Amino acid sequence: MAKLYYRYGAMNSGKSTALLQAAYNYEERGQRVLLAKPLIDTKGDRTIVSRLGVAREVDLLVEPEVDLYALVSGIADEGAARGEPVACLLVDEAQFLEESQVDDLLELAVRASIPVLAYGIRTDFRTHSFPGSRRLLEVAHSLEELKTICRCGRKAMFNGRKIGERFVFDGAQVAIDGVEVTYESLCPSCYLEAGGVLPYRAARNARR
Ligand SMILES: [Zn+2]
Repeated sequence: MAKLYYRYGAMNSGKSTALLQAAYNYEERGQRVLLAKPLIDTKGDRTIVSRLGVAREVDLLVEPEVDLYALVSGIADEGAARGEPVACLLVDEAQFLEESQVDDLLELAVRASIPVLAYGIRTDFRTHSFPGSRRLLEVAHSLEELKTICRCGRKAMFNGRKIGERFVFDGAQVAIDGVEVTYESLCPSCYLEAGGVLPYRAARNARR
C-alpha cells in the first residue's frame, strides 16, 4: 500500500531541496513524478526553488476548492493508459493546502496507490499551525522532521518574522504582498528572547 508522508520543518530547513532530490531519485530510475504546490497568491508562481539554486516548474498549481484526488487520479489513469504511470506525487508548501485537500492526499495514497510526499512548515510566525500542516500531522502515515539549526546552535522549531532587522509578532498568517518580510528559524529559547510570546499562555494570563 502506498503511503502519505509528511516531511515538515521550520523555514530554511531545506524542504524544497529535499523535494527536488526526491523527484530526481525517481526520475533517475525512469519513473514519472508529479510536482504540485498550492496557489497562495495572485502571482501564481509555478517554480520550486531550492536554496542550492536548483529550480523547477510544478506540474500542478493547486487552487482552492480543487479536488486533488479527482485531479491527480485522473492524470494517473491517463498516464497509465499511455504507459507512463505516475510513481509519486510531491507537494511543496503543503502547509497552504486546505484540510480537504490533505484528505484527498491520503485517499490518493490509500485508494489510488500513489505515494504522496508532502513538504511543509509546521507553524507560522506566532507558533500556530497552518491548516494544511495541522491536517497532515493528523492523518499522514509517516512524519519526518527536517531539522535546521538556530543562531545559537540548538534545533530551530519556530519561524521568527522580521521586517528589516526587527522581529515582528503581529500580522496576517501569510505575509501580504508588497511588505518586505524575511524569516529566521529560531529555537524556542531564542524565539522568546526575541520578544515572541506563547499565545495561549499570554491569553490566559491576560484574563487574570
Ligand atoms: Zn536559539
